[in-house]
Amino acid sequence: MIDFELEPELAKGVSAARQFAEEQLRPISRYYDEHEHENPDELIDRMWELRRENIFSLGLDPAAGLRTEELCWGDAGLYLCIPGPALGGAAVFSSGTKEQIGKFLGNFNEGRPKWGAMAMTEPHAGSDTAAISTTAVRDGDEWVLNGEKIFVTMGKRALEDSDGFVVVWATVDKSAGRAGMKSFVVPAGTPGMRVEKMEKKLGIRASDTVTIVFDDCRIPFDHILGSPEVKKTDKAGTKGFKGAMATFDATRPIVAAQALGIGRAALDFVKEELERQGITIRYGVPRQSLTALERDIMDMEASYKAAKLLTLRALWMMSQLQPNSLESSMAKTKAGLAITKITQKAVEIMGPLGYSRKYLLEKWMRDGKINDIFEGTGQINMLVTARRVLNYSREQLK
Ligand SMILES: Cc1cc2nc3c(=O)[nH]c(=O)nc-3n(C[C@H](O)[C@H](O)[C@H](O)COP(=O)(O)OP(=O)(O)OC[C@H]3O[C@@H](n4cnc5c(N)ncnc54)[C@H](O)[C@@H]3O)c2cc1C
Repeated sequence: MIDFELEPELAKGVSAARQFAEEQLRPISRYYDEHEHENPDELIDRMWELRRENIFSLGLDPAAGLRTEELCWGDAGLYLCIPGPALGGAAVFSSGTKEQIGKFLGNFNEGRPKWGAMAMTEPHAGSDTAAISTTAVRDGDEWVLNGEKIFVTMGKRALEDSDGFVVVWATVDKSAGRAGMKSFVVPAGTPGMRVEKMEKKLGIRASDTVTIVFDDCRIPFDHILGSPEVKKTDKAGTKGFKGAMATFDATRPIVAAQALGIGRAALDFVKEELERQGITIRYGVPRQSLTALERDIMDMEASYKAAKLLTLRALWMMSQLQPNSLESSMAKTKAGLAITKITQKAVEIMGPLGYSRKYLLEKWMRDGKINDIFEGTGQINMLVTARRVLNYSREQLK
């Protein structure tokens, strides 16, 4: 039997996240949108306490997805400021050995707030991750990294934090293609690694996004995640490239959950405003007698719900350690489309209320779009979905 009821302990976590979103995130949402690159320090301390009490645990299960949705209902940019290893942690989990997971993530919930980040994208390698040109060259018992990574979420925080780190994807053998791709943990403060530039963005402005340059950056040999071996015969890559894909399998449903939070914020706003104006949406009446407005609202709700079910399924599979590449990409594709449609329609329906900075609706439209871009664009996730459904290889369907 399918049961959508949360156990009481998990339900408590979700409602605590909702309360935090309402009381702590919403009131400062506009401020940090308008003061890009300012750190919400006080908030971070409070979030750290709650994270340690497991309310913000960024786990990979349906309840973590629901908590994420609630927090992003509050503010998606501030959600990304929650201290933790974030995408960097997911990469260590996906590609590291048991010992490395213990070594690099073991003490992350202790003491004071700490950050992690993951750097894959380069000026000429975004969707096509196999095109990365950052190099890692072995020199005795060290690796020497050279290259430039762009759009690194929370990269500044991770580099400023004495316990922070960045997982960097680099090639140890360009001629080997995907098989030569490996990931490396670079601790904050390592000479040769620096933040070059901070992005000014359309949305999620509370979250820092930076360019990081590696200039003869030396790290210990055992900071490579997984095996250093390059198997040229393995087209899909050894654990290096597969590790990158496994990272995305884990994090795409969480990005989908972020989109759901923003989408529901927009939907709630529209419905409350319509109610205030005395307009009631009539459910259960024949389609031919619905107004255009009612159809729009029902369409938006249907998109939201479909995306939510796909997201919960992908997360549930992850929590059961089942392969979920297809489901993760489907959830991310659907949520990316849903958030774009819901927020744009909401602005359209609300007219001036949707366009004015007096309300947060226009911000949600800006914030939401990122969920259709990072961790695989909508088009790329559609491609992954199509390959899996049709059983085509990467070479057969590009
Ligand atoms: C705010 C923000 C935060 C980010 N955070 C991180 C981070 O923490 N770490 C990190 O490594 N990266 C991060 N990124 C980078 C992000 O993952 C990339 O922007 C994304 O993967 C797309 O790559 P690109 O920008 O090079 O676009 P391109 O790959 O150049 O794509 C441009 C367009 O072409 C489409 N396209 C490309 N290839 C195909 C194809 N084969 N079929 C159909 N359509 C295609 C894409 O969908 C897109 O619409 C972030 C980006 C942003 C904007």
